[in-house]
Amino acid sequence: MLTISSYEDILDVIKRFDVEQYARTRNFYSGNVSGLSPYISRGVISLNRIREIILEHHSPEKAKSFISELAWREYFQRMWWTHGTRILADFYHAQQPVAHHSMITNLAAGTTGLHAIDEPIKKMVTTGYMHNHARMYVASLACNIGQAHWLNPSRWMYYHLLDGDVASNSLSWQWVAGTFSNKKYYFNQENLNRFSETVQTGTFMDCGYDKLDSMPIPESLTENANLPLTCNLPLTTPPELDLGLPLLIYNSYNIDPAWRSDMPANRVLLLEPSHFKSFPVSDHVLRFVITTAQKLVPGIQVVTGEFNEIPGLEHFTHVYFKDHPISRHYRGERDNAVWMFPEVEPKSSFSAYWKACEKRSRKNA
Ligand SMILES: Cc1cc2nc3c(=O)[nH]c(=O)nc-3n(C[C@H](O)[C@H](O)[C@H](O)COP(=O)(O)OP(=O)(O)OC[C@H]3O[C@@H](n4cnc5c(N)ncnc54)[C@H](O)[C@@H]3O)c2cc1C
Repeated sequence: MLTISSYEDILDVIKRFDVEQYARTRNFYSGNVSGLSPYISRGVISLNRIREIILEHHSPEKAKSFISELAWREYFQRMWWTHGTRILADFYHAQQPVAHHSMITNLAAGTTGLHAIDEPIKKMVTTGYMHNHARMYVASLACNIGQAHWLNPSRWMYYHLLDGDVASNSLSWQWVAGTFSNKKYYFNQENLNRFSETVQTGTFMDCGYDKLDSMPIPESLTENANLPLTCNLPLTTPPELDLGLPLLIYNSYNIDPAWRSDMPANRVLLLEPSHFKSFPVSDHVLRFVITTAQKLVPGIQVVTGEFNEIPGLEHFTHVYFKDHPISRHYRGERDNAVWMFPEVEPKSSFSAYWKACEKRSRKNA
């Protein structure tokens, strides 16, 4: 888990990041990953800024593996911008077979019996972070072995993640479940042992890959339930706003300290109940959002309420916000999103998209 106390700390992490070690080890639980995702997902720093800093310190060839992972995120974001809530349903193919639309109880509790899955689940519930490979294993167990439809399990994971992002989360789950890709993602115990550096044997996943797609649902994954995902937004007092200054609206996907930072303004972190009703998050995640905003954006005031309920909204001559699928209903002046590869439109597969990004980078070099 990456803990920072200032924006400069984040820049330092990026400057010091060893991209070569990342390329070699990122798939291992103990690998050298950046831990930047909570700050990227909360909009503290853009992918484009990260890429710029990385390329100031490393050659494009050495940085390729890391930048391609940043591009996965950009690809998912561009899909969300383009397709909106369509990403919340089976995208290219229907998931099958589907035994139910609930969460598997032993997965939620981290009691499946697979040690290298149970530990990361328990850790995610307390810390808000899970390694990418563990996320893939959990999603594969839920959808492809336990036959749960991906949507509710993905909502459970999103609820706990400090980096919870609607696009990265739902499209990754769909990629694993084969609804956003042409084949489902499977693993077995041998693969799990290798990347978690553990040695468990004799589990229900201790078999060859040829057995996996016809495996009956293992006993440990049969019980399921609709988990309540309670979201406790803070009760806030009305903000003190100066009508003579512009109003800048931040939210849980935009906590960018560099955004219009030279402008004297009222700064409000808006927590809309309607958004959190659709995409609930845990107390831990909410605390992270609020403390990150308070730490990084001087003078920011937290407001729980809908956009059109902001006191005195109609009296401001300038209201600014960043363009994002969750801020489409805001009114005022919209600042455009900055992409790493603005000229490349999202394609139907990541590999086609990444090929076009690489071609564009060579052209611009
Ligand atoms: C089932 C599942 C659910 C996921 N849910 C989320 C989510 O809600 N929010 C989220 O930000 N990521 C999600 N991911 C992607 C990925 O697991 C995390 O971004 C990554 O683990 C974050 O750790 P890191 O910052 O150390 O990543 P690093 O490996 O250091 O990568 C740097 C950055 O690149 C981006 N990135 C890396 N890998 C991926 C990937 N596979 N897909 C998309 N972006 C990537 C992230 O922004 C990450 O911070 C999910 C993946 C899976 C398989």
